[in-house]
Amino acid sequence: MNDAISADPVSVHNSLLTIDTHIDIPWPSGPDPFTDSTRKVDLPKMQRGGMSAGCFVAYVPQAARTLENEQAAFDRAVAMLQTIRAMGRSQGDISARLTISVADIEAAKRNAVLAIIPAVENGFAIGGDVSRLAPLRALGARYLTLTHNGHNALADSANPRADLGDGANEHGGLSALGRAAIAELNRLGMLVDVAHASRQAMLQAADCSRTPIVSTHSCIRALCDHPRNLDNAQLDALRDVRGVVQITAVSAFLKPNAKPDQTTVADFANHIDFAVQRIGVEHVGISSDFDGGGGFSGWNDASEAPNITAELMRRGYGPAELALLWGGNFLRLLQRAEAAAE
Ligand SMILES: [Zn+2]
Repeated sequence: MNDAISADPVSVHNSLLTIDTHIDIPWPSGPDPFTDSTRKVDLPKMQRGGMSAGCFVAYVPQAARTLENEQAAFDRAVAMLQTIRAMGRSQGDISARLTISVADIEAAKRNAVLAIIPAVENGFAIGGDVSRLAPLRALGARYLTLTHNGHNALADSANPRADLGDGANEHGGLSALGRAAIAELNRLGMLVDVAHASRQAMLQAADCSRTPIVSTHSCIRALCDHPRNLDNAQLDALRDVRGVVQITAVSAFLKPNAKPDQTTVADFANHIDFAVQRIGVEHVGISSDFDGGGGFSGWNDASEAPNITAELMRRGYGPAELALLWGGNFLRLLQRAEAAAE
């Protein structure tokens, strides 16, 4: 064992299959993802930061649940997925590839090509029609975040929207339609993402999904009492169904009322440590929520990702554990979803 090599965080980081499980894209327009821009994530920054793969989300904001708004939300999700798919190309000295299976993602890493993984954030994208999930999957989407801020037809949100007429609780967790959507997600091989869902909705989703659920961008409520974070019973439920929480780089979820410049990689690693000690390293992962509210001093854009690996190595995590945290666990969930798909 060569200590000089094994101790170099950048070398270790670059050897890993690293996945950031939640990244927003600019919409309706923005800089070319192949150029270094003011965005926290673009493909040059991913490459410099040793990132292998990113889940890029077609995010639709919650709006009043009219048929017209639901159609517009679906159309927007489709258009955003087409934009995300178009990132899978070569331009200049950067190669990226659309990846819609675990095999694709692993092949991209072997070929030193950035892996683009599409996903959809907010079940409002399907309105009240579960048959809209299949076309989203056909465009490559690998997960659906059941809710965003505000209840929708599928589930209650952790952040009700009084301006949309939300009470604390509308469905008592999942609606019947939400349960049907989960069954359809399972059938299509998509993951059920419970980030943003209410506590009850999350616990019910854990129970009714045939495959392990994920929270693609949340933190630990015992360390920061925010409604977007998972409490200990929720963490235990995730472990019991073999799911994963992807700790995210949102300062207000990491430290109470903290601003990005008041938050550090140590604060982030504290949430990783807590989750690992509570439910085990195979149930924890890493996400940024970059360009959607994530980023803090030390991990303020995709190029700084090795700082997270360095901090975790200082805390005693070895290469095998880092591989699980940075992508192995999330890939396991994708694989389970693929195996269970019909
Ligand atoms: Zn989000």
